[in-house]
Amino acid sequence: MKVIHTISEMQQYSKEQHKAGKVVGIVPTMGYLHDGHLSLVDTARANGATVVVVTIFVNPIQFAPNEDFEKYPRDLQRDCALLEAKNVDAVFAPSVKEMYGEEPTCFVVENKLSKGLCAKTRPTHFQGVTTVVAKLFNAVLPDIAVFGQKDAQQARVLKRMVRDLNFPIQLVISPLIREKDGLALSSRNKYLSPEERKNALVLSRSLKEAQETLEKDGMSIPAILDSIKGKIASSGGKVDYVECVDAETLEDVRSRTGKEIMFVLAAYFGNTRLIDNVLFKY
Ligand code: AMP
Repeated sequence: MKVIHTISEMQQYSKEQHKAGKVVGIVPTMGYLHDGHLSLVDTARANGATVVVVTIFVNPIQFAPNEDFEKYPRDLQRDCALLEAKNVDAVFAPSVKEMYGEEPTCFVVENKLSKGLCAKTRPTHFQGVTTVVAKLFNAVLPDIAVFGQKDAQQARVLKRMVRDLNFPIQLVISPLIREKDGLALSSRNKYLSPEERKNALVLSRSLKEAQETLEKDGMSIPAILDSIKGKIASSGGKVDYVECVDAETLEDVRSRTGKEIMFVLAAYFGNTRLIDNVLFKY
């Protein structure tokens, strides 16, 4: 497995792969990998990638000054061992200086899907995400890009970026991977105390119950949203948002659409902000 740290070497590697007739897949991550990340490698291959490049970069511009950029967990050696075992072809792990050393004044902004949900508490987050992913695309030159359903809003914002800016890339959204007890896998789960971790199980549990209730038309969507909020609060969580939205447009859903919809939420357990969602047709 090749470990690459510079943009020029990454571009060179990818051009060679294309010349050899390979289909290049990119899996962008911030590292501290878990099985959720590793499942994206399988999805890249299942969608035709014959060379998989995993990028590992904790992107400073998607963190607000009060957020956890400095303490975000990092372990490149462990990550590389996991990716090597997964037969990944290359890891692109640039430094912050390599990515932003020239004091950039140009950014990528999505103006609709990135305005609600997580953006209400993280208003500059998605501009950081779209900008870094555009830069990673230009470094890795992929044919296929895989993002996780775990970050539901992020995946839709990036899908829109690919569409609107004509990136010649197929963007695939890969299913959300959970622990056996339901907790969505996340690098940030490391911050949770044992008690917070136990309390946080209310997220996946209440989302599952919400889906079941809606599917049997047991309650209106606003009543279900209130019920999820109540359950989170009584388990010691602090709700950031709970919404029911169209899975493509992220617009509010209040009745049956016949399309894919999602219950999406964010909540704090202690100082840790967790997100989760459930996607289904309704
Ligand atoms: P991150 O390192 O948290 O920025 O995540 C990198 C990629 O992995 C994103 O596309 C995430 O949506 C995806 N991802 C993170 N956790 C999971 C999970 N539990 N299941 C599926 N994909 C995930």
